[in-house]
Amino acid sequence: MSAIKITGIETVCHSHLLLLRIHTDAGITGNGETYYAPQSVASVLHDWMAGRLLGENALDIERHWRFFYERFINFGGRGAELRALSALDLCLWDILGQSCGVPVWQLLGGRTREEIPAYNSSGGTSYGFTPAPDTAPEREKPLWPGYGSSGFDGPLEDNWASLHRPAAYARELISEGYKAMKVWLLDPLAHQPGGPLYLSWGALKQALKPLFDIREEVGYEIEIMLDGHGFFQWPAAMRIAEVMRDIKPLWLEDVLRVDNVDMLKKFHERAGVPIAVSEMFTTREDYRHVLERQAADYIMVDPTWVGGISETRRITEMAIPYNIPVTMHDCTGPFTLLAGVHVGIACPNVVFQESVRAHLRVVYEKLIDQPLRVSNGHIAAIDRAGIGAAWLPGLFSRENPSYRIST
Ligand SMILES: [Mg+2]
Repeated sequence: MSAIKITGIETVCHSHLLLLRIHTDAGITGNGETYYAPQSVASVLHDWMAGRLLGENALDIERHWRFFYERFINFGGRGAELRALSALDLCLWDILGQSCGVPVWQLLGGRTREEIPAYNSSGGTSYGFTPAPDTAPEREKPLWPGYGSSGFDGPLEDNWASLHRPAAYARELISEGYKAMKVWLLDPLAHQPGGPLYLSWGALKQALKPLFDIREEVGYEIEIMLDGHGFFQWPAAMRIAEVMRDIKPLWLEDVLRVDNVDMLKKFHERAGVPIAVSEMFTTREDYRHVLERQAADYIMVDPTWVGGISETRRITEMAIPYNIPVTMHDCTGPFTLLAGVHVGIACPNVVFQESVRAHLRVVYEKLIDQPLRVSNGHIAAIDRAGIGAAWLPGLFSRENPSYRIST
């Protein structure tokens, strides 16, 4: 296969998302992204990686991956450098897929199934993004990603619904075909003074009451996952687990922050409910520690934080002999979701893909040229060549103050 040379690296910051396009002399453009502190990632791409990439063969995915990894492992192998490599990796797989005329899942070895189960995470139209001024009454507050803003009442505002009308919200998801839902009801408690350290039984039962309301309304028609966003210390986490036993959740996610794998193992042994960790891990070695020490029932991977499709696939495969399923994170951007779906279609060990219906139907619609949908609780394999979508061209306006290009 003849070389396709990289001719341009183009980025835009959109709220907390870094949008990346890699241009080539074949006229093919690769699309990718990563999330968090996008300005720092843009700097890594333009001020450091561009010197190596421009003029190089875009099809040498693993050669570029190893080159950059072997440079930035010198200072930890994480951070903006790993997020930049993740975004780049998605672009290069997209270019390879488009140049071969096949979807990425085909290049990963083909389909192990036609579709993968997807659950609804209870975000909203502004969750994880800076909302448009006319859409969010709470817009004057600083919005830190993952800080668990409660959102506001309105269509597809599922975080608000999970707190204020949980039974009707669960019914609505079931009527749309969803088989599983994730909530983060405890964020308001965690943000109170002392909240991460100590939770009274009364406050905890009150905060988790929506889950009991859901069980009363729909029984076990829908699986429930609770995400603690890594906010709680050991004693509070143990109380959360004890109350959650009555809910029979599919998993309890990141109740303890993932600072220490031995503490995660102890929590896993004593919680009495299944445990998932964690999109907060970012390296293969992190996940190996979890698997080796038997510290979780599920491992959760974010494709645009761990090193792209290449590394997500390796982590997913690594978990197979431990008989630990992988669940893919997305509360962040459309190409993170697409990357997870491609790996999930090609690797039989992905149990669930996370998705936020407000993102799919409202946020991602304004970002990419391909509608993404959950149908009957599943996302189907994407048949389009490459990664399956492209950034809308208008996003890469030179008028945008964050726009950068290296040629
Ligand atoms: Mg999570």
